[in-house]
Amino acid sequence: MSDLFDLSGRLAVVTGASRGIGRAIAESLAAAGADIIAVSASIDPGRSAVGDAVTAHERAFEAFACDFSDPEAVRALGARLRDRPVDILVNNAGTIRRAPAAEHPREWWDEVIQVDLSSQFAFTQALAQGMLERRRGKIVFTASLLAFQGGINVPGYAAAKSAIAGLTKALSNEWAARGVTVNAIAPGYIATDNTRALQDDPERSRAILERIPAGRWGAARDLGGAAVFLSSPASDYVSGVILPVDGGWLGR
Ligand code: NAP
Repeated sequence: MSDLFDLSGRLAVVTGASRGIGRAIAESLAAAGADIIAVSASIDPGRSAVGDAVTAHERAFEAFACDFSDPEAVRALGARLRDRPVDILVNNAGTIRRAPAAEHPREWWDEVIQVDLSSQFAFTQALAQGMLERRRGKIVFTASLLAFQGGINVPGYAAAKSAIAGLTKALSNEWAARGVTVNAIAPGYIATDNTRALQDDPERSRAILERIPAGRWGAARDLGGAAVFLSSPASDYVSGVILPVDGGWLGR
């Protein structure tokens, strides 16, 4: 039974691992036994909080800074990691830009689509090569409730996250038979920097809280269990799924 969730000897790449959900996922994977390669725009490869947490679990840790708004930087990191024996890829790095659709700056649209969608595909394509050759791999995207809903003031983000749900299923259809499962987690409202503007708006914050059956905002650590599940042998026959971790929001 315990082997179902055992990640000992596995190597996981987690993007957006410097803080928030990605950091919590990296810590959870390390606690389950995985060595971690952390990626984020500005992570210090020499010393980081996530690095300290992973090494506290006596797992190996490396970090690479890479700005996902820069396609060339993503291509270069993909090429650098292509030959590493990566078992688990958690595509979690993401950004959000809030402005009403009628005035939404085109540059924000382009940036969000690049970071949250196009770079996700490019990086996954690079790291999946080795997984497909070894016929073993677990790919987990961080989608959003906005893979199912439209949100307010975040048209680029909603479009990108809805596309991530489609991409998850498209890749699963091609790769599940080749030993690589592809799934996504859809976090609900989680108290991180990503949702700072909502937390700081008393009206939006209260309206959101009132709709969450669990009666609280999520914490980053709430995503750890789903991430370990989708990265472990426990989910070997699960692929193409968008798993909400939302305190019951979507059931409402
Ligand atoms: P967060 O605390 O703002 O963390 C974002 C992470 O993504 C950081 O590690 C950041 O790296 C990295 N990142 C941002 N822009 C990047 C770029 N251009 N290139 C590379 N890395 C970049 O947000 P979070 O809530 O943990 O979000 C993690 C993921 O969950 C995102 O995909 C987000 O869309 C998704 N999500 C969050 C919620 C929520 O309620 N919080 C809900 C649904 C989905 P640096 O620290 O180096 O900047």
